[in-house]
Amino acid sequence: MDNLKSNSISENFGKNLFSDEVMRERLPKDVYKKLKKTIEDGSELDRGIADVVANAMKNWALEHGATHFTHWFQPLTGITAEKHDSFISGVETDGRAILHFSGKELIKGEADASSFPSGGLRATFEARGYTTWDCTSPAFLREDAIGVTLCIPTAFCSYTGEALDKKTPLLRSMEAVNEQALRLLRLFGNTTSRRVIPQVGPEQEYFLVDKAKYLKRKDLIYTGRTLFGAMPPKGQEMDDHYYGSILERIGSFMNEVNVELWKLGVTATTQHNEAAPAQHELAPIYTQVNLAVDQNQMVMDTLKKVANRHNMKCLLHEKPFRGVNGSGKHVNWSLSTDDGINLMSQGDTPEENIRFLLVLACMLSAVDKHADLLRYSASDVGNDQRLGGYEAPPAIISVYIGQQLEDVLNHLTETGNAGTLAKKGEKLRTSVRTLPEFEMDTADRNRTSPFAFTGNKFEFRMVGSSDSTSTPNVVLNTIAAEAFADVCDRLEKAQNKEEFDQMVHDIIKELLAEHKRIVFNGNGYSEEWIEEAARRGLPNTSCMVDAVPALLEEKSVSMFERFHVLSQKELESRAEVEYETYAKAVNIEAKTMLDIAGKDIIPAVMHYIGDLSATVQHLHGAAALMGGESVLSGYAEEKRLRQCTELVNEMQKALEKLEIVRAEVRSIEDLRERAVQMHARVVPVMDDLRTPADKLEMIVDRSYWPMPSYGDLMFEV
Ligand code: ADP
Ligand code: MG
Repeated sequence: MDNLKSNSISENFGKNLFSDEVMRERLPKDVYKKLKKTIEDGSELDRGIADVVANAMKNWALEHGATHFTHWFQPLTGITAEKHDSFISGVETDGRAILHFSGKELIKGEADASSFPSGGLRATFEARGYTTWDCTSPAFLREDAIGVTLCIPTAFCSYTGEALDKKTPLLRSMEAVNEQALRLLRLFGNTTSRRVIPQVGPEQEYFLVDKAKYLKRKDLIYTGRTLFGAMPPKGQEMDDHYYGSILERIGSFMNEVNVELWKLGVTATTQHNEAAPAQHELAPIYTQVNLAVDQNQMVMDTLKKVANRHNMKCLLHEKPFRGVNGSGKHVNWSLSTDDGINLMSQGDTPEENIRFLLVLACMLSAVDKHADLLRYSASDVGNDQRLGGYEAPPAIISVYIGQQLEDVLNHLTETGNAGTLAKKGEKLRTSVRTLPEFEMDTADRNRTSPFAFTGNKFEFRMVGSSDSTSTPNVVLNTIAAEAFADVCDRLEKAQNKEEFDQMVHDIIKELLAEHKRIVFNGNGYSEEWIEEAARRGLPNTSCMVDAVPALLEEKSVSMFERFHVLSQKELESRAEVEYETYAKAVNIEAKTMLDIAGKDIIPAVMHYIGDLSATVQHLHGAAALMGGESVLSGYAEEKRLRQCTELVNEMQKALEKLEIVRAEVRSIEDLRERAVQMHARVVPVMDDLRTPADKLEMIVDRSYWPMPSYGDLMFEV
């Protein structure tokens, strides 16, 4: 019972958060009001309040057992970084420690930026980088083996003000979409909403494996995925794992994860087994995008830490096991106002519905125009293994909107004055002039679409499971801002209501006609779709190195600069970091394969071959004694011996080739070229090395195989 009590949601929720409630309690009224204004309206932070806030934060943290504080930031590595300082600032004459935390320490920190990827934004000799307090995301206490640490969410910029992180562009993109969406709302007569805020709920998929087995897999340790491994007799074909009953060991892990997250104010809600064996999912309730992105980092961190406590390892890689479902992050995205209007929802009135259709048309045009950027935003090294593969979104961006909505849109574009659209048995009615209410079938689902409209939000299903959710949201916010801005530029010229209405209709029609090709409601996993998409001229970008150039396309640069989200220089730096990261990751994978093949698999197979040939000799002798033909003839063993010898030779050849091409490509100076060649030349040889090894795994006596198999990893958690 004690155990149950300590797990209660109400007792734990937000316990470790410097929340609004804590601030209201502990800050003087005027300070609280000023801070709240910055948090809610995005107005500039009054630096004068920093000391008071810092002191309240410190007292609160110390009361909760904190010993250290840290600026918590999100460099371009995609994960978080932190440097801890204790609260000790000196010693009193009587020997007691002086505990101190100033406004300056809260607001600004200095971090050696040269140790983080910056893509040339600063050289090592100008290493200064600054972390600055992001008061829109509450400070929190993290409890772990280190103790209790006060974590202050911060942005990370260079000395010259360039963003070196994933948070700064996100905050800028929120401003951009806020401004443009408000413009649109005002045109439709809304005078009351003060802000439009992107709302995001990221669903997180992950795998759990036993820690002892994990530690026997160098590939998992160094690269997060298996680089060798034959399929077990059983995969996911029985569909018995998805939504299956949760094992006790996993259940107790999930329970602890939930409690830890609740304490941090993360609304961990949904949990279930996913499609693949050992695969699971966790989803929080959606919240404003900057918090959602921060919280997703906490979710990933918590999953890993708690798994370790339970003698398991959490694999966040997009494709830990070849041939088995991969993991993604479904980014559910919508826009809503501070007074509760969801711009992605159909409304109650004709005006609201026509606005909804205009927003939808804007989104279709934005996604079509910037499909390459969205594709880029979902690319990371691991996702190259997942996208377009087994049971994963294809590498082609398209939008699922459901049949009903497509009918409405088709009718609009074809006739321009739909009149009443009603299908038998359905409540769908709409007219272009005075769109009456229509009911959309939100139950319609299409799991194969990379970007699906699900009634009141878009679900971007392509994003990688280990990646930060920042970049996809930066792209979504900014392309939406651009589409709204372009439409507003035109609509603001209308002289009167009638002209305005006419223009809205014309624009919807025009956008739909121009961008209809992006709509696809069919099966995204099918071969036919790949052909159809090619006919429609939609890009099919199969790998990360081909996706990154989208960042520097003229239309991307001009958009990001127009809305002050990322400068050309910042975009260039990001592209460079991507190429460098890709090349490094593939290099590590190749070296890990060489290590495992050369030091574990080949020696084990040679050992087996030696023993097997001794057995064959022995059997020949025995068979001769017994008069020849019998099960002792050694026929099967000889065949096996031949197979093993051939395959191990094949491995040896591939290994030698991999050693050479890896070293060659690694020495290419130009980062983009190095990444491109890693993909073009190194990755195929890695496959050449893997194929014979996986065949050998199926032949060689189990007791000789040097590491746990897929079956051991996935079915014996
Ligand atoms: P689905 O079944 O479509 O995946 P869920 O209800 O399971 O939908 O929601 C998935 C995620 O989407 C959750 O994190 C949820 O909070 C989030 N979500 C729901 N509504 C919205 C919305 N309007 N905007 C953004 N995210 C949302
Ligand atoms: Mg979903």
